[in-house]
Amino acid sequence: MVFTQTAIPQSSTGQSSTGQSSTGQSSTGLSSTGGPPAAADLPAAIAALKQQKKAVILAHYYQDNGIQDIADVIGDSLELARKAATTDAEVIVFCGVHFMAETAKILNPGKTVLLPDLEAGCSLADSCPADAFAAFRAMHPDHYVISYINCSAAVKAQSDLICTSSNAVQLVQQLPPDQPILFAPDANLGRWVARQSGRPLTLWPGSCIVHESFSEEALLRLKQEHPDAEVIAHPECQQHLLDLADFIGSTSRLLKRAETSAAPGFIVLTEPGILHQMRQRVPHKPFFEVPGADGCSCNACPYMRLNSLEKLWSCLQHGQPALDLDEDLRRRALVPIERMLALSA
Ligand code: SF4
Repeated sequence: MVFTQTAIPQSSTGQSSTGQSSTGQSSTGLSSTGGPPAAADLPAAIAALKQQKKAVILAHYYQDNGIQDIADVIGDSLELARKAATTDAEVIVFCGVHFMAETAKILNPGKTVLLPDLEAGCSLADSCPADAFAAFRAMHPDHYVISYINCSAAVKAQSDLICTSSNAVQLVQQLPPDQPILFAPDANLGRWVARQSGRPLTLWPGSCIVHESFSEEALLRLKQEHPDAEVIAHPECQQHLLDLADFIGSTSRLLKRAETSAAPGFIVLTEPGILHQMRQRVPHKPFFEVPGADGCSCNACPYMRLNSLEKLWSCLQHGQPALDLDEDLRRRALVPIERMLALSA
């Protein structure tokens, strides 16, 4: 299991014996004007609020370092879905994007699920609108529908099975060999799963703006500069980049690879938030991130980066923004998620 548990010692509330923090704020960080605490007091204030509200903070590997450092659990989509399914906390704060928090709510209808910024969406989920997907499914009535977890609840509700990049190949291989399969929404991941499993897949043409942004020219230059470094890539990347990779896997598998490979360094083709964990776990090796085309920083997910420590504090303090889901939709979306959790246990 790759969960990272971050213990928050009692002393980490930043309180002195007089009950005041270093900046003179209350334990949960309210400033004298009732606003958010000063930046230096945010981690302690969030820890105090978390205890007070009986909350758990789940964070995706693509979150900013400061959020990763204060999270109770850091993981990829599968790990976080598993944790969301078993937590006994009363409040789940999901530091990730909307479909992840929505998945947590689908699994926990009785709990409050907070997302620090409700605008934290996902280009991949947005590339698969539910009504267009329904029409696509209708064109392939004999197909078994497997959807990557990066999709809306409305698309999950139309799916037979949900997968993540960690378990997609294994799940596809479990289906009867003559069963036609429709895979959505990421076409790059779908092509990789088809190659790995040896199964033809009918693909929905979706993609992630982040994983489609990497510059092949920059990758080739990095390979030339660091010929012994291993290129490790997420399967959401385009085929021509995956062809240059030494190892392809989900975010958690890339992290594991960095920990176990004998390579002297790594060129990383995925969202650079994961580098924080890689550098913490393998501090003696260099990690090189591949920039986007023209050297832009579009390899950082703009949606994930909408979350911040201040917004995390605010959602704990005010109990919003909270996820709300139509109960009928939630029940229908739950079926393929539970099937995935059972099949990939
Ligand atoms: S990195 Fe891509 S798939 Fe992941 S949340 Fe951002 S836009 Fe969506």
